Amino acid sequence: MTHPSPIATGFDVEQIRKEFPVLDQQVNGRQLVYLDNAATSQKPWVVINALLDYYKGYNANIHRGIHTLAEKATKAYEATRHTAQRFINARSEQEIIFTSGVTGGLNLIASSYGRAFLKAGDEVIISAVEHHSNIVPWQIVCEEKKAVLKVIPVSDEGVLDIDAYRALLTDKTKIVSVNHASNSLGTINPIREIITAAHSFGAVTVIDGAQAASHLNIDVQDLDCDFYCISAHKMYGPTGTGILYGKQELLEKMPPYQGGGEMIKSVTFEKTTYNDLPYKFEAGTPNIADVVAFKYAMDFIQSIGKETIAAHEHSLLVYGTEKLSKIKGIRLIGTAPEKVGVLSFVVDGIHHFDIGQMLDARGIAVRTGHHCTQPLMDQYCIEGTVRASFAVYNTKAEVDQLAEGMERLISFMK
Ligand code: PMP
Repeated sequence: MTHPSPIATGFDVEQIRKEFPVLDQQVNGRQLVYLDNAATSQKPWVVINALLDYYKGYNANIHRGIHTLAEKATKAYEATRHTAQRFINARSEQEIIFTSGVTGGLNLIASSYGRAFLKAGDEVIISAVEHHSNIVPWQIVCEEKKAVLKVIPVSDEGVLDIDAYRALLTDKTKIVSVNHASNSLGTINPIREIITAAHSFGAVTVIDGAQAASHLNIDVQDLDCDFYCISAHKMYGPTGTGILYGKQELLEKMPPYQGGGEMIKSVTFEKTTYNDLPYKFEAGTPNIADVVAFKYAMDFIQSIGKETIAAHEHSLLVYGTEKLSKIKGIRLIGTAPEKVGVLSFVVDGIHHFDIGQMLDARGIAVRTGHHCTQPLMDQYCIEGTVRASFAVYNTKAEVDQLAEGMERLISFMK
């Protein structure tokens, strides 16, 4: 990806902040500075109101209902599928499966596709910068099928070694699963290159888009990935829902992940016929309210424009990198040239939990720990980092507050 274009004229961060009621509060006597967006983003009024409207106005179970409320709820639920299809440019709505989030999507692929198509001796490739949710499901299925899990190494800067990746690819490679952007380091991975190389060996590709969906343009047809997973809560939407995109021909030949209501056409004690896509993979009553509200999060992003959001966050990243780099004692972890708005750092001699607590005392919310990437932390010989991550509503003044907080606590502790 090239660096984002300049922030569009008309972009007014103060105006945008007004859309997020949670930001308007004091924490520990200070104005809240919310810099934990890679863990989960805050929700705008349109999303909150969509949830309220649903529960106040038309809560009902979807599909097969002939009463008015059920029809209204079904329409709203399916409207999100339509928006999601356009959001990632899938070929059809049948390729959009609602899940509980990226974890749900990756487990679905590993359990369904992995169990059905991996054989003993096959190989699955992931990378050294994966979240546990893109490691453990593959470990489980590889162990069960006696397949081999291989890992693309990462450099000290946080860049995947693409030559080493090419050397890992063989005719035995059946699945390559990597993230679009790393949650611990911010690195944007060259997924197009990774996908093309995997396909030249006949492997299917899985992309974990948890950290990309609110920042980077996603065009699944252009990328030609086979699967792509998204969590709504990282992109201004509700918790507990997300999308699994899969190419239709792959989803068609995959067995169901879970059995139950909705995913069937007919059931007898002798034989069950499964429903068509996408319902084959949506067993049981889904998370209706959150799916309904998720549409409004995608519309919110589109109304500002991903390029504008990316440009704003990139300016905060550049500004924050410069500020933190100048503070004696701070060591940035992850300095790849292409990054989303994630600043991970350590201070030798001060535990990241202590830093997190001291920043919280100043109203600044950051995440501390291993960020569900323990193998990556092991590689850097650290237990964890302090991570500040940006969203569309963050400001340079907030980055200044983070830098000032860090300067003060380092001079106090050292
Ligand atoms: N992958 C990455 C890169 C993530 O950042 C996260 C969330 N921290 C996940 C997967 C898992 O997402 P969820 O918890 O929404 O299922």
